Amino acid sequence: MDKIVSLCRRRGFIFPSSEIYGGLQSCWDYGPLGVELKRNVKEAWWQEMITRRDDTVGLDTSILMHPQVWQASGHVAGFSDPLVECKKCHLRYRADEVNSTVCPACGGELTEPHQFNLMFKTFMGPIEDDAAIVYLRPETAQGIFVNFQNVLNTTRKKLPFGIGQIGKSFRNEITTGNFIFRSREFEQMEMEFFVKPETADKWFEYWTKERLDFYRRIGLRPENLRLRPHEKAELAFYSRGTSDIEYYFPHGWAELEGIANRGSYDLEQHVRCSGKNFEYFDDETKEHYLPYIIEPSSGVDRTVLAALCDAYAEEPDKDEIRAVLHLHPRLAPFKVAVLPLSRKEPLTKLAREVHNTVRRLWRADYDDAQSIGRRYRRQDEIGTPFCITVDFQSLEDKQVTVRDRDTMNQIRIPIGEIENTLAAKLGGEAFASKELWYTAQ
Ligand code: ATP
Repeated sequence: MDKIVSLCRRRGFIFPSSEIYGGLQSCWDYGPLGVELKRNVKEAWWQEMITRRDDTVGLDTSILMHPQVWQASGHVAGFSDPLVECKKCHLRYRADEVNSTVCPACGGELTEPHQFNLMFKTFMGPIEDDAAIVYLRPETAQGIFVNFQNVLNTTRKKLPFGIGQIGKSFRNEITTGNFIFRSREFEQMEMEFFVKPETADKWFEYWTKERLDFYRRIGLRPENLRLRPHEKAELAFYSRGTSDIEYYFPHGWAELEGIANRGSYDLEQHVRCSGKNFEYFDDETKEHYLPYIIEPSSGVDRTVLAALCDAYAEEPDKDEIRAVLHLHPRLAPFKVAVLPLSRKEPLTKLAREVHNTVRRLWRADYDDAQSIGRRYRRQDEIGTPFCITVDFQSLEDKQVTVRDRDTMNQIRIPIGEIENTLAAKLGGEAFASKELWYTAQ
């Protein structure tokens, strides 16, 4: 993990938030490369969960919601973790994480656990009293539930169908850490899939498999992914089944995504508390009922971390070791880098032309500083799948060298064929996995 954190900082993927003031614990800023990687993760999710499906639509709801939403959802009463505090050094822990009556840091006695609500509170408007309290949402799902009827009316979707959303969530976690794995401000990618109650088990199975496949399709190694069905005792009281997709992070197996069969709990609660009717009229059976909901809920930041950990490798390169990110091309911040061998004209002019061509299609870097070897190393370390080198010969034969990040093989191709060659190699979606993509090379 230290290597990943250091690479992220050094190359501009992720910085500690407010670093010049000593950082703000558990908050992170995505730098120029991090923001690209994160956007690619979200884009891959959106493509597969919304764009390419007939049975889903997207939504983008506000972070601040009516406080009654959180009463109805059960978050005000129950979204809490058991907190214990050391009577001697006053460090605080999640009781279920320490599993002991003494402080792991100083051996002091721990207090009895009390429930600590994880929602951030703030005030709406100029008066800071109880009536003005609003919460920063701890999940994006509630924005979807409260809009169920709006979406149904405006899209005329029929069951089964889903509503997906990507957005920020906030949780005042008692303990944070493992880099961006657990922070207090993070992003979620959630799908609420509404189904006929008797088909819920089937859809739960479907989404479990589909979501596991998603992580393989964006290049995570199958051996680093596993499904962990929850024990009965572990289930939230409304849940009829939950499975976690876990990734083998440097700190061990941990949750990447949770998939839950939530029954009709959420809609029932909003019907009860808002007095609005959320019943679905089934044209076929002429029945009115509340749909069941299958919820695959994933973390953007955890997926970014998993992708970085999975891709990172140190490999022999001539007499040295190169650090390389074997990111799937779909996720790579830059798909290609254009590297002129020298900064002299007319080489620069030609290299700029090549750059302008490729960047119409892909996020493309342009780098003319330092030796070509160092520039390859830099692109390897940030996961750029291909480098195009423009040299003096290029001025005469109108050809460039294309270097492959993973094999380090180089081929010479005419400038006019760059787009087609790269499209064939990068056509991300055509390659269901990193393995297939390699084979196609
Ligand atoms: P955990 O058990 O790790 O606290 P959770 O079961 O509370 O997670 P969910 O409520 O199921 O998490 O949230 C869905 C997803 O949102 C998680 O799988 C994770 O990817 C992401 N997520 C939740 N909490 C955090 C956090 N504090 N920091 C980063 N991502 C988070």
